[in-house]
Amino acid sequence: MGLDGTCHLCPRHCGVRRAEACGFCGATDALEVSSVCVHRGEEPPLNPIVNVFFTHCNLQCIYCQNWQISKGDGLTVACYRYTVAELAERICRLLPESGGMLGFVTAAHYADRLAAIVDEVRHSGLNPTVVYNSGGYESVETLRSLEGVVDIYLPDLKYMDSDIAARYSHAPDYPEVAAAALKEMKRQVGGGLMTDDDGRAYRGIIVRHLVLPGHTDNSLCCLEWLADNFNPFSLHLSLMAQYFPPREDLPAPLNRTLTEEEYRTVTDRAAELCLTEGWTQELTAQDNYRPDFTQENNPFEK
Ligand code: SF4
Repeated sequence: MGLDGTCHLCPRHCGVRRAEACGFCGATDALEVSSVCVHRGEEPPLNPIVNVFFTHCNLQCIYCQNWQISKGDGLTVACYRYTVAELAERICRLLPESGGMLGFVTAAHYADRLAAIVDEVRHSGLNPTVVYNSGGYESVETLRSLEGVVDIYLPDLKYMDSDIAARYSHAPDYPEVAAAALKEMKRQVGGGLMTDDDGRAYRGIIVRHLVLPGHTDNSLCCLEWLADNFNPFSLHLSLMAQYFPPREDLPAPLNRTLTEEEYRTVTDRAAELCLTEGWTQELTAQDNYRPDFTQENNPFEK
């Protein structure tokens, strides 16, 4: 928040007083969470993880797979209010099941409270590895406030094409904003991923890129940027094929899943650029990542 109580936590810079009104993300000053659960669907060095899925989002992508909770309007199916202490207590109860891995999912609009949540957890004698899972649309200033709180950054790099960033996420400045954010994350935790003897991550960065149907050119531009700005031999890149149209009214080409040829074009280019550290997916992932936040305990359990 700004010194005058207005919100500038993310690059939208809405400048609203969230005690009185919502900005673009739909969040008030209440801490609203849609699920806290042990999740096993992240990249292997992060599993299992206690994920806190915050309600609302500062991107509002029209194809969001978590649309049930990201809107923060009448469509939201699960939204629970917590104090910092209550949320920390819930995390502490689950943390032993994850071996201490704790993920904050889509948290830019609550970034000013993450340090307090982690402090509360630490006061209970637990020492989590903190993962910051982000759409990549982050303010560098806010990220700086998370230095020392976050151990592992898990950002998306969604677009290097301003037109589709505007069309799909209302953020024509996404390419330059995400580029600056990823550079700041790298400055804080390095451009690789450190793991212990059990293969569990404890510091670093994993960059995700979801390949969108009909937009392989954008994907190739994202790969080029990553190869130019990270050491491609040490960057852990998660190239995701799991896109599915979450609603029936999406415009083409977002109204279909990815083809094998589209995905292969992107993975082949990643290999040419030596971006081979990390993970790819089978196209069947399109059927496996469909969370349902109406399920009380775990939105990912079928
Ligand atoms: S966090 Fe929400 S209210 Fe604050 S600037 Fe971003 S979109 Fe606006």
